[in-house]
Amino acid sequence: MRQINHFINGQITPPSERQAPVFNPALGEQTAEVSLAPASTVEEAISVAKTAFDSWSRVTPLNRSRILFKFKMLLDERIDELARVISAEHGKVFEDAKGEIIRGVEVVEFACGIPHLLKGEITEQVGSDVDAYSVNQPLGVVAGISPFNFPAMVPMWMWPVAIACGNTFVMKPSEKDPSASLLIAEWLKECGLPDGVFNVINGDKEAVDVLLTHPDIQAVSFVGSTPIAEYIYSTASKHCKRVQALGGAKNHMIVMPDADVDSAVNALMGAAYGSAGERCMAISVAVAVGDIADELVEKLAAKTRELKIGNGENLGLDMGPLVTKEHLAKVKGYVDTGVSEGATLVVDGRDLTIDGCENGYFMGGCLFDNVTTGMTIYQEEIFGPVLCVVRVPDYATAAKMINDHEYGNGTSIFTRSGAVARKFTHDIQVGMVGVNVPIPVPMAFHAFGGWKRSLFGSNHVHGPEGVRFYTKRKAVTVRWPEGDIGAEFVMPTMK
Ligand code: NAD
Repeated sequence: MRQINHFINGQITPPSERQAPVFNPALGEQTAEVSLAPASTVEEAISVAKTAFDSWSRVTPLNRSRILFKFKMLLDERIDELARVISAEHGKVFEDAKGEIIRGVEVVEFACGIPHLLKGEITEQVGSDVDAYSVNQPLGVVAGISPFNFPAMVPMWMWPVAIACGNTFVMKPSEKDPSASLLIAEWLKECGLPDGVFNVINGDKEAVDVLLTHPDIQAVSFVGSTPIAEYIYSTASKHCKRVQALGGAKNHMIVMPDADVDSAVNALMGAAYGSAGERCMAISVAVAVGDIADELVEKLAAKTRELKIGNGENLGLDMGPLVTKEHLAKVKGYVDTGVSEGATLVVDGRDLTIDGCENGYFMGGCLFDNVTTGMTIYQEEIFGPVLCVVRVPDYATAAKMINDHEYGNGTSIFTRSGAVARKFTHDIQVGMVGVNVPIPVPMAFHAFGGWKRSLFGSNHVHGPEGVRFYTKRKAVTVRWPEGDIGAEFVMPTMK
């Protein structure tokens, strides 16, 4: 059995006492054991990162960015190797795993511009012979905690910007698919990143709780489910840390009566069933406005039945398995609930066996029609290959539904009307919005983040907002007097 440990101070550590199994979800077989760090191991990683901060924060931004440049080149060469590791532990299809790596590399490319991004501001002569300037300085040791569904991309939303700014990092990936972060740690070392700057701790709540409370952790970036995001935000904030905690989602796509139905159907297929629906930006609700609904459902049903599903390591597939046996059971349970609550199950993917992968955690795409807002399958995040169609009479009802939902991660509209699209983008209470674009994930040089219960904290991830999150601003006021400046006992004002 392969053993997966931690990466501290440039070295793989010996195993911890507590272990968790890691599976290949397509085969339904355990392939490795991952060490679950006790508090002492996390404390060691934090201490090493604190020591490394002294020298790393003094490395010039240009030299920090040169290491990231090398890493980007190396990732371009080794993308297939990393994608295979992701596919084997997560289950997503190989090409989709490559896609997530590319979206992660884009953040590395953004972070390579750190010498420009870190520049402060200066005002000459704020008072007589007095100048003022501001600089952006790193925070110290910062932590990242990531979910299972993007084992490479989500950590890369965090650490490239953090270390480019001069911080040192402790990464806690999901214990379900931990190998990608360890491979990245080794490759960063190969590119010249000094030991202790990027450390990987594997573990569960015990390890996370140390990161949330330890006095030497200055900031925490978290991505995962909403209940845990809320816990992370409240606990780490109580311990006076900066926190950005991104949570779950229920993303709607409005299809207006004037939309091109075939484009809307194709967009929905990829956005609902890609990565088996295990994406925080997956579209899980299609809101059909007016008389487009029948044609939309008929065309979606035909394509859902044709989904190509199998072991993600093979090429030419649309969808792989779900991540674990427990998650598969949970998603199927939601489908059962939808049926019992009265929604119409147009395509039932609950029973699916793949030849050669009989023990894998597979299910086919499911399509529900006539879903209403009171149903559990409408209200809760399912995080599986299940698309719900809600029929509404008009745009206003569709928009109100989205605004009333507790989540506000992503949404989109398919329409030919500029006026409706303008109203939608302006009024809708969601953080990331698409027009005739199903999954509006912002590029690395913009920021990613939802609203409402999809994000706790004030900063979105990456882009200029990421730089702000990982730096603190210092304002300096300077005078070089030629004579005695005298004492002032009243509140100083600039003369
Ligand atoms: P999760 O919340 O179960 O786990 C996320 C991380 O938190 C993991 O590293 C896990 O080890 C840790 N964790 C789990 N329980 C904990 C606890 N009680 N205390 C402390 N730490 C704990 O999420 P998941 O199942 O890995 O990922 C799926 C979820 O992530 C979905 O809800 C999805 O929408 C969300 N997600 C959100 C975004 C976003 O950008 N908003 C992106 C990706 C995934």
